[in-house]
Amino acid sequence: MIQAVFFDMDDTLYDTSGFASIARRAAVKSMVHNGLKCSEDEGYECLMEIVKEKGSNYDKHFNILTERINGEEDPLIIVNGIITYHNTKFAMLKLEPESFSILLYLKSKDYKVGLITNGKKLKQWEKLVRLGVYPFFDVVVTSEEVGVDKPNAEIFQIAMDRLNVTADTSIMVGNKFDVDIMGAYNVGMQSMLINSDLTKDEEQFLKDNNYTVTHLNSLIDIMKIL
Ligand SMILES: [Mg+2]
Repeated sequence: MIQAVFFDMDDTLYDTSGFASIARRAAVKSMVHNGLKCSEDEGYECLMEIVKEKGSNYDKHFNILTERINGEEDPLIIVNGIITYHNTKFAMLKLEPESFSILLYLKSKDYKVGLITNGKKLKQWEKLVRLGVYPFFDVVVTSEEVGVDKPNAEIFQIAMDRLNVTADTSIMVGNKFDVDIMGAYNVGMQSMLINSDLTKDEEQFLKDNNYTVTHLNSLIDIMKIL
């Protein structure tokens, strides 16, 4: 019998992929209006190269962008980029209505609810608080806090230990096969996949290893199972 449901956050509880690019475009627009010497498209292209080189958690994308385009860092341009980026992102940061419903449902049924997320501790917590869902979670585990990322079994074990549950009474819900589903597999937990499809290789892997993944069209589908 399932006692605990663990969720991934980004692209599981809310849609993040779409709004990062909108926020970046808005940031570049503001930077161009404040003296970045390029077109908005050129600026965006250059920013995406920098994000690719440095990773999305690097905190000086806009510094490098002004240096590459204008030949020097300009605090006014950088600050305009940062502020516009954050304002746009937070304006768009909204919970999927299904997420709220399912969290409410699970709590009403006395399931323990946990969050297991890869990312920086404060960045992930900030989203949880801004989304207004943090009171629903009995445990929140970020990879930065515990020093291991999904799909390492250890991060799942830490989350289960904190809730005093075991893998055979827990289930993981996430959007990434190689992170969420493989993590659940590694620790011997059932899992549900949302917002993504399996490749042929992934399907073959599951078949070869006799591991079944439940596909969800919506988080609401969890109500039919639990
Ligand atoms: Mg995710």
